[in-house]
Amino acid sequence: MFLGPPGAGKGTQAERLKADLSLTHLATGDLLRDEVKRGTPLGLEAKRAMDAGELVPDAVVVGMIRERLVGDAASNYLLDGFPRTIGQAESLDAMLEGLGAPLDHVLLLSVSQDELLRRLGGRWLCRNCGKSYHETFAPYGGEPCEATGDPCDLYQRDDDRSDAVANRLNVYAAQTAPLIDYYGSRGLLREIDGERGQDEVYGQITSAIQGG
Ligand code: AMP
Repeated sequence: MFLGPPGAGKGTQAERLKADLSLTHLATGDLLRDEVKRGTPLGLEAKRAMDAGELVPDAVVVGMIRERLVGDAASNYLLDGFPRTIGQAESLDAMLEGLGAPLDHVLLLSVSQDELLRRLGGRWLCRNCGKSYHETFAPYGGEPCEATGDPCDLYQRDDDRSDAVANRLNVYAAQTAPLIDYYGSRGLLREIDGERGQDEVYGQITSAIQGG
């Protein structure tokens, strides 16, 4: 499981780790955005909270995760962006106990508040291939979209706009940061310095998983 504030690099690192370890990547943010895009009742319910940088109700995200974990208990999972509250963590515990599949690792990606604001402020995504660019750190250079071959169709997520960004960081501090103690007290937590370069962060992650 990846734990950490929005902008810590969970999604980026998850993409790499899932490929290397053949994991199924379960990112509740991605699952919710997909529901919104398809205009499902769940998506319509979730959209207002997401746009404002608030959390979607626990019952909604726990239901989405349960459907996938219980439906395919044989896979190895990488949880990204879930759980985000103590209530979600308790539901996850119950689910995993029922499946006889305990958590192996909880990796906390730590990044300072100033750096998070810098990162989240300039983030742009391609509507078609999903690739993420950044005005300062990874500017789009006109390369072809991996999905269409045309130039990328860049947009900014509603919740990457500045008022929502501030709210997401406050919500993280109030509702998600308590999970650090929740998993820390069980000896499962490993802290990763998320301010290093992407390769170095990935190196820390793989050595934490290997017990190094
Ligand atoms: P993310 O892509 O992980 O930053 O998630 C985008 C948005 O989806 C969040 O700001 C929340 O509104 C919602 N969301 C994602 N995961 C959860 C979760 N585990 N619990 C509640 N809301 C979530």
